[in-house]
Amino acid sequence: MLRSISELKVEGRRVLLRLDLNVPLKDGKVADDARIRAAAPTVRQLVQRGAVVIACSHLGRPKGGPDPRYTLAPVAPVLAAHAGVNVQFVPDVIGPAAKQAVAEAVAGQVVLLENLRFHPEEEANDPAFARELAALAEVYVNDAFGTAHRAHASTYGVAQFFAEKAAGPLMLAEVSALSRVRDEPERPLVVIAGGAKISGKLETLEALAGKADVLCLVGGLANTFLLAQGLGVGRSLVEPDLVDKAQEILRQGQQRGCRVLLPQDVVVAESLEAARGRTVGVEEVPPEAMIVDIGPQTLTTITAQLSRGTVFWNGPAGVFEKQPFATGTLGIARALAKSQAFTVVGGGESVEAVHLAGVAEQISHVSTGGGASLEFLAGYRLPGLEALEG
Ligand code: ADP
Ligand code: MG
Repeated sequence: MLRSISELKVEGRRVLLRLDLNVPLKDGKVADDARIRAAAPTVRQLVQRGAVVIACSHLGRPKGGPDPRYTLAPVAPVLAAHAGVNVQFVPDVIGPAAKQAVAEAVAGQVVLLENLRFHPEEEANDPAFARELAALAEVYVNDAFGTAHRAHASTYGVAQFFAEKAAGPLMLAEVSALSRVRDEPERPLVVIAGGAKISGKLETLEALAGKADVLCLVGGLANTFLLAQGLGVGRSLVEPDLVDKAQEILRQGQQRGCRVLLPQDVVVAESLEAARGRTVGVEEVPPEAMIVDIGPQTLTTITAQLSRGTVFWNGPAGVFEKQPFATGTLGIARALAKSQAFTVVGGGESVEAVHLAGVAEQISHVSTGGGASLEFLAGYRLPGLEALEG
C-alpha cells in the first residue's frame, strides 16, 4: 500500500520531495509551466504543515555533467509564484552548498536543488549518490509519476534510506485513475490506440487488448493492422516486421470476443506538407499516397462506442500537428470530453491533443506520465512505486 503525505508527520522535519519539474526552457525562461503548476499544491501543503522542503527534479537530458542549458534555476521563481511560498534555488545537488542551504533552512522554507542529472550517478542509481541525497532529509516524498518507471537514485535508490516515505498527491491520482482502467474496469472497457508506431507500446497494447471489450485502432499504428489484413497502405508509416504480431493481436481479440475496430475510411495525402487531404475507403488507398488521419465515418463509429463504462485513449488518430490532418484526433478528444464514461488519456502527444482541443477539464484523468502510464497499464511494477511501498 502506498501512503499519502497526510499520513506523515512533517512538522519541523526535512522532506526530500522528488517532483517532476522537467519543463521546456526557452532563452533561459520556462516555456510551459504546466508541470510546475501541477506540483505547486504539494509544495504548498508541506510548507503549510511546517516542513522544510528539499525539492528536487531532473530537467531534460544533460549528458554526463552540469550544463547551463538545463539548469533548474529559472524554475524556482515560477514554483514560488504558483505555490505562494519562498523558494531558494541552490546551484548544487549533494555538495557543500546544498548541505549548507539545507542546514540553514527553517520550517516552512523550500530549497530547490539543481538538476539531479548533472550527476550521471542519478540515472545510474549509484548507491553512494543516493545515500548522500537521502542524508539531506528525514522524510521522503515522491510526486513524480513521469519517472516512476525508472530506477534512478532519486526515484528508487534513495527510498531504502528512509523509514518514512509517501507518494505525493499527483502520484496517487495517477495510480488511482490508471488502476481503474487496469484492474476490474467498469464495463465496457473501450481502448483507443493510435500514435506513430506499435513498437514501444507492444506490451501495453497486448495487455489492453486482453482486457478491452472494444479496441479501436487508429493513427499510424493502425496501418500495420491494415497491412496485416492484406490491405494496401501506399507510402504510409508502417512496420512490416510487426505484421505477424498485429495478426496475433487481432486473432486473440476475436477469440476473447473483443470487438476490434479498424478504420473504415481514412484521409490520404501525397505528403505531410499537403494543404489538404482526401477521404477514401480503406480499400482504396492509392499506392503513392499516405494515410494521415482517420475519416469521418470511422470517427462516428468510434464516438458511438464512448457513451459509458471506461475509455482509455493513447495515441493520436492522425498527424494532428498539421491542421488539415487534425480532425480525427480533435474529434476523439471532443467525444471523450462529452462522454459519461470514466475517461483517461495518456501519452505525450495525446495529452497535447487534448489541450489543443481545449477539453482537458472534461476528461476524468489526463495522465502526465507517458512511458510510466503505459508500463503501469501493461502490468509492470514501477520501481518508483515499489520503492515507496518498502
Ligand atoms: P503518444 O505520445 O500520445 O503516446 P505517439 O508518440 O505514439 O503518441 O505518436 C504521436 C505521433 O503519431 C504524432 O506526432 C502524430 O503525428 C503521429 N501519427 C499519428 N497518426 C499518424 C499517421 N497516420 N502517420 C504518421 N504519423 C502519425
Ligand atoms: Mg509520443
